[in-house]
Amino acid sequence: MVAIDRRSLLIGATALAAAPARAATPELRLRLLETSDLHMFVYDFDYYHSKTDPTVGLAKVASLIAAARAEHRNALLFDNGDIIQGNPLGDFVARPGGLAAGQPHPMFAAMNELGYLAATLGNHEFNYGLPFLEQALQSAKFPFVCANLEHMDGTPYMRPTMVITRDVMLEDGSTLHDFRIGVIGFVPPQIMSWDKSKLEGRVRTTDIITAAQRYVPELRATCDLLVALSHSGIDTGPRNTGLENASFHLASVPGIDVIFTGHSHRVFPGPDYANRPGVDAVRGTLNGIPAVMPGYWGSHLGLIDLDLERVDGAWKITDFKVEARPIYRREGAKLIALADDDPAILRAAAPAHQATIDWVHQPVGRIAYPVNSYFAYLGSENSIGLVNLAQTAYARAALATTDHAALPLLSAAAPFKAGGTGPDAFVDIAPGPITLADLADLYMYANTLVVVKLSGAEVRELLERSAALFNQIDPAKAEPQELLSRTMLGYNFDVISGLTWLIDITRPARYSGGGKLINAEAHRVLDLRFQGQPIDEAASFLVATNNYRADGGGGFPGLDGTRSILNAPDLNRDVIALYVKSTELQTPPPTTWRFAPIGRPVQLRFRSSPAFADKLAGRPDITPGAGGNDGYAEYLLTLD
Ligand code: MN
Ligand code: MG
Repeated sequence: MVAIDRRSLLIGATALAAAPARAATPELRLRLLETSDLHMFVYDFDYYHSKTDPTVGLAKVASLIAAARAEHRNALLFDNGDIIQGNPLGDFVARPGGLAAGQPHPMFAAMNELGYLAATLGNHEFNYGLPFLEQALQSAKFPFVCANLEHMDGTPYMRPTMVITRDVMLEDGSTLHDFRIGVIGFVPPQIMSWDKSKLEGRVRTTDIITAAQRYVPELRATCDLLVALSHSGIDTGPRNTGLENASFHLASVPGIDVIFTGHSHRVFPGPDYANRPGVDAVRGTLNGIPAVMPGYWGSHLGLIDLDLERVDGAWKITDFKVEARPIYRREGAKLIALADDDPAILRAAAPAHQATIDWVHQPVGRIAYPVNSYFAYLGSENSIGLVNLAQTAYARAALATTDHAALPLLSAAAPFKAGGTGPDAFVDIAPGPITLADLADLYMYANTLVVVKLSGAEVRELLERSAALFNQIDPAKAEPQELLSRTMLGYNFDVISGLTWLIDITRPARYSGGGKLINAEAHRVLDLRFQGQPIDEAASFLVATNNYRADGGGGFPGLDGTRSILNAPDLNRDVIALYVKSTELQTPPPTTWRFAPIGRPVQLRFRSSPAFADKLAGRPDITPGAGGNDGYAEYLLTLD
């Protein structure tokens, strides 16, 4: 069988763009559908906050799939991996004894309702270890392929490729028997470090492009259409061996007709990938090959419509259209659902879903001290500290076998929930059992852990930028002064564990609330120490943080996405859950910062929760004030 020629495909595409009025009906039309990175989101539900979430869920995608099938006679559905992990439902099923022998895994029970043609493995399939994965896969009523995962003896871990035959209806209304769809799948080779303890000595990965070059020619020769299921994003940089996001370079491997991408949790075609050479972010092509990425957690359905003609006995793509269809849209702050839940999908996972809701309110660990965010802006406190302890433990283990292991490791976190969105929006976890729902309170955002490498001087700048949270205080004033600037949001107040420092709020801020350098002479961060010694500004430090901050969120000096040395595959929230599960939390995290002494008493006013009044035992420097509005109560801090 002759392969579809990329050159003629490109020429065809160009000709079509110039002459959109092409009239001829193609011989065959196919519609390929993709889900990817579903991560256990069957329901449109947020387990951490126990409420519906219209931006997620296979049940909603299922309605889009039904509509896409109703529009098209030859629609074929694929999944691109990251299926069995990603929310408490996944953890619930994967816990010891969570899946009885012969019991269907709820995600596959739901997916089985949809008639998938084939799927591949994502990196998160390995998070619970191979025995659980293999047990879970037994309940999938559709085949999996993965071409770059091997047993230690070099034999494939599973089918690298397969050819699936289907009867399809031609445009003239006749049936074409046994149309041959070739499928090949790829997983990021990085699973060997991300899940080292579960995989080392059991399996090994190979480079995605190398595996494609090995298997595509043979597959090409035995199929009419070749679909690559690439659980890998779109990196247009150099083609390094072991590339994590290899879908762009995969498009240069001759013989591949269509690429389903994923892993990066983005939408393609779309503006995230604009202005990259070789990428058409509007039409949806990588190096001329149609490709799609359908967001994450069921946010989108990927569609690739193909027109095909038989030329010398081989099927050739003559036109195509790529689309990522969302299940919701935003109208200002409002979310508008664009799809209804498919009740059959919900039903398939209902028992595990209900049990998970109960489970998140059960203890995952114990903590011997209270954790709250009431003191987040008043000198270091332990809600940020707990996040930093967890990030440090995770990063230390993840970097242990790398060249970076010898560098000092710090960790940065900000108070996400410290009154910013309402008078009750504080973390307040009592000593005793701690639940997954508590952890969601502690870490509200679905960030992933990232480690950046910075100099001591750059670390100091991060703290200066954070210190913009405070107004400049006049020590001569007798009347109370407003402590917190209204121009800065608390989630940009990063506190860095592993260091100690003072913040002198009588000095002007070096940075604006938005992160702009406004006073190059000003310094508020004093006496910055690492291991008790003044910080070496020329030394290198690693800082565990999150993808938002590392990629430039909050406008922190020096952080623009280029300083990252580890982009972990795990959510910071899961990192904390892991820490709480595995660690005795007996003593509060060490103190990091406090206000520099002023030399004479000044009164500082701030607003907090009315419930804060109950937390003031042992803090004679903080007293309830008279004012307050919008449900907040006013307090006074005396500093001298
Ligand atoms: Mn994913
Ligand atoms: Mg992934």
